[in-house]
Amino acid sequence: MTDKDVLRRGMQVLGVAIREEPRIFAAAVGASALYGATTVASALILGQVTDRVIVPAFRDGETTTAAMVTTFAVVFGIALLKALGIVGRRLWAGVMQYRLQATYRRRVTRQYLRLPLAWHHRHPTGALLSNANADVEAAWFPIAPLPMATGVVVMLVLAAVSMLATDWALALVGFVIFPAIFFLNVAYQRRQGPLAMRAQELRADVSAIAHESFDGALVVKTLGRENEEAARFEAAARELADANIAVGRVRALFDPLLEALPSLGVLLVLLAGSIRISHGDLDPGELVQIAYLFTLLAFPVRAIGWLLGDMPRAIVGYDRVRSVLDAEGESSYGDAAAEKTGPAGLQARAVRFGYLDGADVLSDVTFDVEPGRTVAVVGPTGSGKSTLVSLLVRLVDPSSGAVLLDGTDLRDFRAGGVAAAAALVPQQAFLFDDSIRDNITLGLDVPDEDVRAALRIAQAEEFVDRLPDGIHTQVGERGTSLSGGQRQRIALARALVRRPRLLVMDDATSAVDPRVEAAILAGLRDGGTGPSTVVVVAYRKATIALADEVVFIEDGKVAGRGPHQELLESSLGYRRLVDAYERAARDREQNAAAAPADDLTEDEEVPA
Ligand code: ADP
Ligand code: MG
Repeated sequence: MTDKDVLRRGMQVLGVAIREEPRIFAAAVGASALYGATTVASALILGQVTDRVIVPAFRDGETTTAAMVTTFAVVFGIALLKALGIVGRRLWAGVMQYRLQATYRRRVTRQYLRLPLAWHHRHPTGALLSNANADVEAAWFPIAPLPMATGVVVMLVLAAVSMLATDWALALVGFVIFPAIFFLNVAYQRRQGPLAMRAQELRADVSAIAHESFDGALVVKTLGRENEEAARFEAAARELADANIAVGRVRALFDPLLEALPSLGVLLVLLAGSIRISHGDLDPGELVQIAYLFTLLAFPVRAIGWLLGDMPRAIVGYDRVRSVLDAEGESSYGDAAAEKTGPAGLQARAVRFGYLDGADVLSDVTFDVEPGRTVAVVGPTGSGKSTLVSLLVRLVDPSSGAVLLDGTDLRDFRAGGVAAAAALVPQQAFLFDDSIRDNITLGLDVPDEDVRAALRIAQAEEFVDRLPDGIHTQVGERGTSLSGGQRQRIALARALVRRPRLLVMDDATSAVDPRVEAAILAGLRDGGTGPSTVVVVAYRKATIALADEVVFIEDGKVAGRGPHQELLESSLGYRRLVDAYERAARDREQNAAAAPADDLTEDEEVPA
């Protein structure tokens, strides 16, 4: 971007901010203009006081009480107005900045929730966090100096007028010095901007490394990688220190110059002014007024530099935020209501789907599930089972073909319609750092009996009752205080308490003891929380055998369909797969019996 582009785009971003908060902006600029006007006025008054009070006092050797009181009242009044201007300017600038940040954070996070999973597949979590946080912050950074910069413009115009009205020679000094301060400041910001940005990035790197080391503490400790981790951190920390020192160097170069320029201006004014006074062209008061104006203006003029310095970062931040807010996502909704009751019928018709890289993960998948039936989806790892179930509950849409619930295309339901009818229990059970009860209801208003009923079917009631606070027990970050199998059962109860008409389980009981898993499936078939159609991705023979029908998936295609026994006879691939799973499970159980793992012993409770 050229400087002109930066200015134009930066002004556009500021325009957005002003349109968002016009009233607060007006208040801040009003206060800032008051500050600007009173600053110039205070110099004028000092000039007047010099001529009318101080010089006569020196000349006559005395002054009047009236003159003293008037001087005091006027100086005090102007100072008070100026103080009010500063308070209003700072207060409203802060209010505007933080309100905009809050507004845009809310918009971004709301948009994250609205965008479909396919969009989230394309955007890493780290980027989402920095969009909502650092980018929003950067976008509204220039709001802090904006009112002051606007006030400074008022100040400069008034100052220029008052200098010209007073004396052209001294005004000339001002017209050289102030632009010089301004351009020096712009140069300063331009040198410092990239360095500060780099330091900011390195700060993120350092915390990312620390975060990863802490997160992977188990791996680091068990493999004795402490020294390597420390070295990695040290390198990043040193780089950050260097970057910060580079920022400091630039500051050390420019700050003294910026301080010196106005003082130089004052010296020039005094020099030129005393010559003109000696020729009788100028009053002492006028000289005092202009010299004082120089010292007053030197600092505020830098606000414009700050504003311009923040612009490049703000533009980048705003563009990133905008790209999230403008993202369409592919989800569209119809207006079909999902108000039927009882188990749902499900159909997949010639479903095709591929992730970003293009290759089809699923092709021509067709099957149907009668209401109330239980269907097992079986297939080798990577064959597309998880992808298929995410299509069944419309986490993603097929690239061609359709999924129908009770004969209605999932895309024709209104927003939230599919979620109201179908529940997915994913492969990885995710629990929030909250109580068991709140993890199950997730804000849904349900009585304790329903929570208990759901826990009962998920075969979790017994172990939950043994916990110190029962269903009110806190589970820790990601549910760390529970075993894997326990977490899975809580996640299942979460789905069940919603009484889904279609329940989809993606290998959701893999960490649960096989006997408990069988009890869960049996409970589901008995229709514990209301009759439901069940699709279950399964590995264990006993689980598969409980299903009414099996859909055998291989390489993203339906390689066989039918009851378990029939498939065993008709499909060699199917028989081999199920046998292999069975052997692996037996081996695992034997190993577990020899050296019981924590997870397994905890889960080896046979349901009553
Ligand atoms: P399964 O559940 O049967 O093990 P998946 O549906 O998880 O299989 O994966 C099917 C294929 O899709 C695999 O080749 C996998 O690498 C790919 N895949 C799964 N998830 C993604 C994703 N988010 N992005 C890209 N490819 C994916
Ligand atoms: Mg899977």
